[in-house]
Amino acid sequence: MPELPDVTVYVERLRALVVGQPLEAMRIASPFVLRTVSPSPGELRGATALSVERLGKRIILGVAGDRYLVIHLMIAGRLRWKPRGEKVPGKVGLAAFDFPNGTLIFTEASPKKRASLHLVAGRAGLAEFDRGGLDVFTATAAQFAERLRSERHTIKRALTDPTLFDGIGNAYSDEILHAAKLSPFRMTSSISDAEIATLHDACVSTLNLWTQRMRDEVGDGFPDKVTAFRPEMAVHGKYGQPCPVCGTKVQRIVYADNEANYCPTCQTEGRLLADRSLSRLLKDDWPRSLDELDERRAQRIAAAPAVAAPPTAAPIAAARPVSRASPAASRRAGGVAADAPPVVAAAAPDSARKPRKKPRVT
Ligand SMILES: [Zn+2]
Repeated sequence: MPELPDVTVYVERLRALVVGQPLEAMRIASPFVLRTVSPSPGELRGATALSVERLGKRIILGVAGDRYLVIHLMIAGRLRWKPRGEKVPGKVGLAAFDFPNGTLIFTEASPKKRASLHLVAGRAGLAEFDRGGLDVFTATAAQFAERLRSERHTIKRALTDPTLFDGIGNAYSDEILHAAKLSPFRMTSSISDAEIATLHDACVSTLNLWTQRMRDEVGDGFPDKVTAFRPEMAVHGKYGQPCPVCGTKVQRIVYADNEANYCPTCQTEGRLLADRSLSRLLKDDWPRSLDELDERRAQRIAAAPAVAAPPTAAPIAAARPVSRASPAASRRAGGVAADAPPVVAAAAPDSARKPRKKPRVT
């Protein structure tokens, strides 16, 4: 899902392109995308665009008459800037917004149709879209610590909860936690003041770094390669690849519809986190340390020529790389196209994301 760096650059480029221009027409191509009935698209026709802002992960386009278009890209929604009057693409097209200097096309490469457009009259109407997440850039150290400790969660969950922190999703939380050298499954109740300060710094520096990277990449164009998987990322989407800091293979843990990627050496003192679904299956068989994992791998390789593999060893060997493979993982395995729609489940309902029990290893 587009997160703060992506949304920030969308906002900056849109601002440069449309502010001062009249919204000549709005073409709604998908019956699912428009979630409001009043004002109607026709009522906004001809209104001059006055502002473009970010509200959490939403993009707010303000037009004359104190009216707003609220665009939420969710996971697979994307924006493209095309020549004026460009046709809305058939399968993925949701809507088009025509300006004299070009057309903004809103697409969603997913059959789930979760991306949305709300048309709102009056600034007060925007309040319902504000999830209340803390802005890590303007927050003081005390505010950041207070917010992090306000609920007892894993740090990964806390960072990606839009009611706690603003604009951070699955991808950048992985990168932030790697930069802070913290385990994604440490509990917010157990982390020290010094660790919280490090985490806050990592939030600011990681989000700034990526926003600037995207600005540099986009220049005076438009972000058309928004993806949650980027080659320069340290751990996100890098399962099995070497950590750029220490060379240890990046591990991942899949939970509910989500996954966390981490470096065991940099973040968990060499320990492997228990993947609940697998660990439930494998019970006590799941390796708890890097050394133990290597030992098991060596054992499996040694056992490979045997016709009948040991009943527990074979499923482990097969299950780890294959059975956990989500569509996203399959794409990664085959090399990620720059514009492959990211499948990051940070938008799953809280109930679905909530760990059902405490992680056993932190
Ligand atoms: Zn590392």
